[in-house]
Amino acid sequence: MSFDLAGRLLVREKNGLRRYRTVLEGPQSKYVGIDGRNYLSFCSNDYLGLANHPVLVQSACEGAQRYGLGAGASHLVSGHSAAHHELEEALASFAGFNRALLFSSGYMANIGVVTALVGRHDVIFADKLNHASLNDAAILSRARLIRYPHLDLTALEKCLRDSKAKRKLIVTDAVFSMDGDVASVEDLIKLSECYDAYLLLDDAHGFGVLGESGRGVLFTENAATRATTDATHSRQVIYMATLGKAAGVSGAFVAASSDIVETLIQTARSYIYTTASPPLLSHVLSHSLQLIEREGWRRKRLFQLINQLKHELQTLHWRLLSSNTPIQPLLVGDTHETVCISEKLKAEGILVPAIRPPTVPRNMARLRISLSASHQEADIVRLATVLRNLV
Ligand SMILES: *Cc1c(COP(=O)(O)O)cnc(C)c1O
Repeated sequence: MSFDLAGRLLVREKNGLRRYRTVLEGPQSKYVGIDGRNYLSFCSNDYLGLANHPVLVQSACEGAQRYGLGAGASHLVSGHSAAHHELEEALASFAGFNRALLFSSGYMANIGVVTALVGRHDVIFADKLNHASLNDAAILSRARLIRYPHLDLTALEKCLRDSKAKRKLIVTDAVFSMDGDVASVEDLIKLSECYDAYLLLDDAHGFGVLGESGRGVLFTENAATRATTDATHSRQVIYMATLGKAAGVSGAFVAASSDIVETLIQTARSYIYTTASPPLLSHVLSHSLQLIEREGWRRKRLFQLINQLKHELQTLHWRLLSSNTPIQPLLVGDTHETVCISEKLKAEGILVPAIRPPTVPRNMARLRISLSASHQEADIVRLATVLRNLV
């Protein structure tokens, strides 16, 4: 058979690249149940510990009572509920933009924005380490894709200067999902204004975590001057964030000027040609947004844990990549060794995922430790102790 799927799967297996899904028996939280055993987890993007919060579980039940389950149709047909509408307004105001638009997932939001704004004859400038959804969106748009070296804004500026394209779109992760480092948002905004480009910022990992009240990367110090002087951000900026990570639920939103959001409603295919997400999820997310805003202690705890982890792992055989976010990658390099360490940790009751190519470059395999406000100091000590004893 010309596809030879079995043969190709076997090659994956031999190279340590075959992936397996772990079946969790209960909710996402600090401990997860697998095969009847409880594991301490450093795997999830539930950075604030909201994915199983009792108040939110309660509001899901309430939402189901009020709105039922399925939305029944796409937003433009008859699926746009009051719960979606209220959440969009709250998100726009929280993120500091005129308008916001909900998508069913971050993947679909990126596909929708990029394909709605650029096409043939246009150019996309993208960081080399961007999330896969941004790369896929670029391919689907048929625009020319120019990838610049990770965080190298000098290289980006040169590409922008040399480009004769009429429409230019810069796309970047705000917090890089496998490295945990952060793009210099202020400089990117300046470049986008200077070269008349739009800037799509994917803040999947910054929303809820970074900036004043968890409002995301645009409210961090390197961007804050602008955010506090203007009621809204630069008109060149399109802000995208996901709601299945720190917000603890599901979905994503895009916040931008009214013209952009209206254009997305009219033309973003991943918005138009899909059923709206269950309204009860939006109902829950409105409450989640309130917890993000009000419970600043979650971010405080998270950053204390980040500092503690960095301190504890200083003297380890492997080094942590430089990151000030809850994504703390421990660089191992070799794929097999990374998988082996991850398995040894699991035998000790601790889950840390091995991240391998093609998700990261060759010889850059790593353990991606992600922290959550639901962790405690003793959990970090336990992880550090087991890692030290592995060498
Ligand atoms: C998770 C993630 C996405 C996709 O979001 P989903 O809601 O999970 O589809 C997009 N961009 C980045 C940077 C992400 O980490």
